[in-house]
Amino acid sequence: MEKISLLGNDNVADDVPYDLIKLPSKGIVYDEDHPLHGEEDVAFRAPGAPEENILTSVALIKKGTVINTLIRSLLINKSIDPTDLLIGDKSAITLMIRIAGFGKEYKTKTRCPSCGNDFAHEFDLSKCQYKFLQVDPVVKGKNLFDFTLPFSKKKVLFSLLTDKQDVEITKAQTNRKKAMGGEVDTIITDRLLTQIKEIEGIPREGIADFVNSGKMSMRDSRALRNYINKINPDVLLEEKVSCNLCSAEEVHTIPLGLEFFWPKME
Ligand SMILES: [Zn+2]
Repeated sequence: MEKISLLGNDNVADDVPYDLIKLPSKGIVYDEDHPLHGEEDVAFRAPGAPEENILTSVALIKKGTVINTLIRSLLINKSIDPTDLLIGDKSAITLMIRIAGFGKEYKTKTRCPSCGNDFAHEFDLSKCQYKFLQVDPVVKGKNLFDFTLPFSKKKVLFSLLTDKQDVEITKAQTNRKKAMGGEVDTIITDRLLTQIKEIEGIPREGIADFVNSGKMSMRDSRALRNYINKINPDVLLEEKVSCNLCSAEEVHTIPLGLEFFWPKME
C-alpha cells in the first residue's frame, strides 16, 4: 500500500486537519454528478470523541449501520453516501479509518488453512495491498464494463457491485433461506443478475431466464465471474502468517471480527 501520512500533514479544511485515502477505483466508475467522479482519493479526518459515541451506540450496532455512520461522520465531503461506493472503495476507507483511530496493529484470532489450528495473531493492517482498477469502463464515468463470453461468444455488459447492492443481495438471500429453508445458495446467480446489464442477442427481460435456467453455460458463467473478480478494485485484507502449531506459511484473510473497531483495551 502506498504510505499515507495519517494526519501528519498540513491539509486543513474548516480548521480540521484531514488526510487522503486512495480509492482502489480511482473514481473512474462514478458518474459526473457523483462527488467522487474522477477522484483518486477522498479526504477524511481522524476519529475523535464523537466517533466513540457512534462506535458505542447500541442502536446503530443493532441496526447494522454503525460503520456507515462512522464513515459519514469522518469524510470531509458530506455529500458522499458510503453505500453508493464500490465495495473495494468502502473497504479502503474503512481500513484507513481503523488505522487512524486505533493503529495498524490488529490482534485477533485466525485459523491455519493447513491444520485448522485457531490462534491469536497480530496483523499489520498497513501492509494490506491495493488492487487498483486497471481496466477502462465502456464509457468514462460509467460503472459499465464489457466481456466476451468464451463459449457462446456473446458480449456482456456488466457493472461492479456497490456496497448497497451487496448488502441487498445478502439480505434477500438470508430472507429466502429463512422462508424456504432451501439448501442451495443462489448468491452466485443473484450477484450475476445484479451485475449483468446486457447480453448480446438477449432482450433485457430475458437475462434472468438466460442466467437462471442454465442457458448460460457454467464455463461462461465462471469465466465472467473470474473476470469480474480479477478487475474488481479492492484492498486486499490478507497477510502471510506462519502457524504456531504446524509452521505452515499461508496467506490468511484478515478476519473482520469485533476487535476491528472494538479492540480490547490493554
Ligand atoms: Zn497450522
